Amino acid sequence: MGGQLQSSFHTIVIGAGPGGLACATALARSGKEVLLLERQQEVGAKVCAGGVTWAGLCSRLPEDLIEKSFRQQHVFSPSQHAVVRARDPIISTVDRRKLGEWMLAQARAAGVTVMTATRALGVADGSLETSAGRFGWRHLVGADGNSSLVRRALGLPCERVGTGINCMVPGDFAHMEWHLENRLFRHGYAWIFPHRGAASVGAYAARQGARPRDLLACLPEWAKQRGIDLRGAKIQAALINFDYRGWRFGNMFLVGDAAGLASGLTGEGIYPAILSGETAAATILDKDYRSPKMERLIRKQQLHARFLRLLRGSLSCRLAMEAFVFALRTGMVGFRALEMGD
Ligand SMILES: Cc1cc2nc3c(=O)[nH]c(=O)nc-3n(C[C@H](O)[C@H](O)[C@H](O)COP(=O)(O)OP(=O)(O)OC[C@H]3O[C@@H](n4cnc5c(N)ncnc54)[C@H](O)[C@@H]3O)c2cc1C
Repeated sequence: MGGQLQSSFHTIVIGAGPGGLACATALARSGKEVLLLERQQEVGAKVCAGGVTWAGLCSRLPEDLIEKSFRQQHVFSPSQHAVVRARDPIISTVDRRKLGEWMLAQARAAGVTVMTATRALGVADGSLETSAGRFGWRHLVGADGNSSLVRRALGLPCERVGTGINCMVPGDFAHMEWHLENRLFRHGYAWIFPHRGAASVGAYAARQGARPRDLLACLPEWAKQRGIDLRGAKIQAALINFDYRGWRFGNMFLVGDAAGLASGLTGEGIYPAILSGETAAATILDKDYRSPKMERLIRKQQLHARFLRLLRGSLSCRLAMEAFVFALRTGMVGFRALEMGD
């Protein structure tokens, strides 16, 4: 890697997803010079169901960003239906593009230098090669999602990933639904997450034991049984990394999906991305910073990963899912068990 440095920054953040935006904004608000790189032309577009939990994020978002909110969650197994109720909304939905635009406006207002349509190509000690030239850094943050360049540069493998499939279906959907259909989705699930005038209909499962093409084949069949026709709909898929192996590596940091902080059990990754982005920023500003919230998030992420390993056998998985729905129905466990927030 050679060539003159275009310019140097206190911190370069790669990736303008929620993790990168949160990190860059927090640093710039403290007066640091931050470059945020995004390979896409526009910030925010992402294959996602847009579900945010009350415990994680909902309560921090402005009302006009919330599409719909649900105080009830409907969880189905092949033989049971649990309805979980709470005083506050358990989950709300957001449009990822609007969430990205809102966070981008905050980043710009804080003074972050944002370069879109710019791809990070190679990491060297103190410099970064990009499609727009070479830039210097004192701190580098990999917020570059499930195929993170920074993670690869750190030599970390990415073995535990899930596949998420999403499809936006027009219509007015009343309930937020989770379907633990082991026959079709193995240790994963299918969902209906209503938005304004549409719903995200999709499925998620860890890749070990559930092949992406099987999920893709099963989703339309399952949707048809629920009276939802996916013929002609745009079905999109993306990976979710939950192979967490650390987030702090000297003056290099990983956040969100790049760090593998999403839940392997549910695929929830927006809140982990934002919390880890903010924590990375606070740690860059003060190397002795400790975040009990981040520590709890990591413990929960690891718990979800362990639980997922227990679900591997198909009979034990079916039984465990039935037991879980029974426990929800009878109030023995709360919905919080599935959420990454605390
Ligand atoms: C189908 C599906 C449904 C989901 N539903 C939910 C949900 O309901 N709720 C939830 O909490 N989570 C959900 N997730 C997970 C969630 O979308 C991710 O965990 C979250 O977006 C992670 O945020 P991030 O900032 O770490 O990464 P991302 O949002 O993936 O952002 C990474 C950014 O980095 C950019 N980038 C990558 N490489 C480079 C490069 N070399 N140079 C420059 N830029 C680069 C990318 O273009 C991207 O914009 C879902 C995921 C899928 C696939």
